[in-house]
Amino acid sequence: AASASGLAWRHGFAGLGPAFFTELQPTPLPSPHWVGASADVAGLLGISEAWLRSDAALQAFTGNTVLPGSRPLASVYSGHQFGIWAGQLGDGRAILLGETAGGYEIQLKGAGRTPYSRMGDGRAVLRSSIREFLCSEAMHALGVPTTRALCITGSPAPVRREEVETAAVVTRVAPSFIRFGHFEHFSANGMEAELKALADYVIDRYYPECRGRSELAGNPYAALLQAVSERTAVLMAQWQAVGFCHGVMNTDNMSILGLTIDYGPFQFLDSFVPGHVCNHSDTQGRYAYNRQPNVAYWNVFCLAQALLPLIGDQELAMAALESYKTVFPAEFMARMRAKLGLGTVAGEGDAELVDGLLVLLAKGGVDYPIFWRRLSHAVGTGEFEPVRGMVPDQEGWDAWLATYLAEPRLADRARASEAMLAVNPKFVLRNHLCEEAIRAAKLGDFSVLQTLQRLLASPCEEHPGHDSYAAFPPAWASTIEISCSS
Ligand code: AMP
Ligand code: MG
Ligand code: MG
Repeated sequence: AASASGLAWRHGFAGLGPAFFTELQPTPLPSPHWVGASADVAGLLGISEAWLRSDAALQAFTGNTVLPGSRPLASVYSGHQFGIWAGQLGDGRAILLGETAGGYEIQLKGAGRTPYSRMGDGRAVLRSSIREFLCSEAMHALGVPTTRALCITGSPAPVRREEVETAAVVTRVAPSFIRFGHFEHFSANGMEAELKALADYVIDRYYPECRGRSELAGNPYAALLQAVSERTAVLMAQWQAVGFCHGVMNTDNMSILGLTIDYGPFQFLDSFVPGHVCNHSDTQGRYAYNRQPNVAYWNVFCLAQALLPLIGDQELAMAALESYKTVFPAEFMARMRAKLGLGTVAGEGDAELVDGLLVLLAKGGVDYPIFWRRLSHAVGTGEFEPVRGMVPDQEGWDAWLATYLAEPRLADRARASEAMLAVNPKFVLRNHLCEEAIRAAKLGDFSVLQTLQRLLASPCEEHPGHDSYAAFPPAWASTIEISCSS
């Protein structure tokens, strides 16, 4: 029975009241079947694995039944899409089941139309659901803040995209799915009471320290803005360091908690191409890999504008954004130092060392994950040829390597190598690996998905026998075109 789920509910967001959402039921899908599940996320929620395998769970996480005590709703938000004010958007295909007593919101993505679906069908296809499921769990294992994914179910129900595909539902989990766009919505509509209620809710629940701060004139809303912009800066540093491209950094896809959210046309870099654009629909390259940190700043600026009625002072709002410009580079350098095995203590030449290396990688379009993994091994063995062979500018490489190896923080090579192997993953969710999991899943074979899920859960471990998942991408990988269609 569904009551055996073990889930108890508290419904924090629903307490904000009807201006924030519409209560509704998911729309059922015929003949659902399991595609994948995460025991780790089940554990977070206190759901037993046995129950997660039950038909009751299958029906509930497809949206065919409503779990006792859950209170499904779709929330309203607005946002800037590709730099342009888009007005009202909202959960067009995501339905919040509620918040568990443990403080996790559970959302079904693809569970049917809502009042915010606009022209959309409220559905998600199997292809994009597999990408979201695998990537959220991969990001988590890399230590990058992200929404999580409990499970995917599939259905033979047809869903029309460029071609006819089939429906799937991803069950997403996060402490909150509130986006910058929620604040923009109430601000743009002059709904100041709701704006304040939302900000107070977010502060009380997720940023309680913002109440007691004396800096920024003791203004809790300015403190919130600063805290969110700093978390966003940290997130950007992590994306850049792991080589993650989000693809659709619209303000409605920016989490107020600084989580990676809304996996669409994302991509982990194969070759290090700073201007890489992973979203085939992004013809201007607005969300290119190397623009992400600036775009995120543009987005926190939008949040500042939305919060301005509460902050009450433009200068204070701008002051709250100031630290983004120091937190991002500091965090990015910290991540790169770790990748280089230089530990946690900053050195004077670090920026030059990192910049110099990234220029070399960019010049050659060097494979980003494999470069780092090989470098990590080489530092331990002293055998640098496998790395050198990847970098076309050999003179530049030799000069860079000499400087790097002269680093006193690298004196204990064995220890440095071990530390590097623990942060430079062997297994990365490259586009072509997603494609292979999707191809098999479309034929009813979920083994590739399961293997990937397992490898990506501990991506820095060797996993003997699975080297093909850690290899250079095949030639066809560069022909994959991922768009907003999902
Ligand atoms: P995205 O670009 O994926 O962040 O989506 C932007 C907006 O479109 C959000 O309000 C989504 O809920 C909505 N949306 C995307 N796909 C669909 C769909 N298939 N059906 C209904 N709404 C959708
Ligand atoms: Mg979105
Ligand atoms: Mg989306």
